[in-house]
Amino acid sequence: MSYPLKHLAIDTVNRVKEVHKTAGGKGLNVSRVISLMGRDLLATGILGGHFGAYIEARLDDDQIKHDFSHIDQESRNSIAILHDGGNQTEILEAGPTLTSTDATNFLKHYQKLLTQVSLVTMSGSLPGGLEPDFYAKMIQLAHQAGVAVLLDTSGASLKAALESDAKPNLIKPNEAEISQLLGQQVDGHDLASLKQALQAPIFTGVDWIVVSLGAAGAVAKHGDHYYQATIPKIKVVSPVGSGDSTLAGLAMALEAKKPDQQVLQTGMTTGMLNTMEAPTGFINPNLFDQYFAKVNVQAI
Ligand code: ADP
Repeated sequence: MSYPLKHLAIDTVNRVKEVHKTAGGKGLNVSRVISLMGRDLLATGILGGHFGAYIEARLDDDQIKHDFSHIDQESRNSIAILHDGGNQTEILEAGPTLTSTDATNFLKHYQKLLTQVSLVTMSGSLPGGLEPDFYAKMIQLAHQAGVAVLLDTSGASLKAALESDAKPNLIKPNEAEISQLLGQQVDGHDLASLKQALQAPIFTGVDWIVVSLGAAGAVAKHGDHYYQATIPKIKVVSPVGSGDSTLAGLAMALEAKKPDQQVLQTGMTTGMLNTMEAPTGFINPNLFDQYFAKVNVQAI
């Protein structure tokens, strides 16, 4: 839920006129962008209760196909208060803690869905109750089904996936996430140190690493090839959800087996288009070709 407020007053009542309620979360941002680009997809995850039903109804409104695994508890609600000229104060519920039965049910459900798809994207932190290696397990099941995985997470769950035998096919850390992962500050503006960071042993076996750098574009590694993607200066309305939109573009291009340069161009374009719109994880697909042509990708 997003609450725009001229001024957020503490310890008193704030009345909101214009409330926006969306089916949010990183995975659904990725889904919405792929859907707006007119590509076929299926959204899944774990939902429950009235909020869960509300999320499914909103996805129906947006004609985003979905097939969720259901639990007895309520899905979480998150509040973003936009106030005082550009401040964003967020109140994020922890969400339900899943039981081992919830986890097993989801994995069975997910395995069924794997037979219908050619690529999977996974985004966000794991719900409470799941072990950090849950994404690693999901990657293993995807690979058994011959399906590639793009993983956009951070902290312990990213580390567990990188340390497991079933590596994600692509990861998309930003500057803060790659620094956290390597336990050292990686400077996104220093190409040489970024290139070196991408060679860290923890990335062995990961096909694609795309380090997104906000307005500076991205630096990426695909196998033995290194690239720098630079983007034009644009008018930013809201950068929230740009990483998710980038993942959506990368997924679309990889699924279409595009060459490396175009994979990065597509991801940069969907990321940029998201920053040009107020809603999170939302793009205007009519602007795609125009901005795609302005992204420059060079081997480094
Ligand atoms: P995250 O949201 O995961 O931190 P980034 O901020 O790196 O990801 O944004 C992902 C992509 O979105 C960038 O690589 C770029 O293409 C686009 N983007 C993000 N912020 C800006 C910006 N201020 N100006 C232009 N493009 C941006």
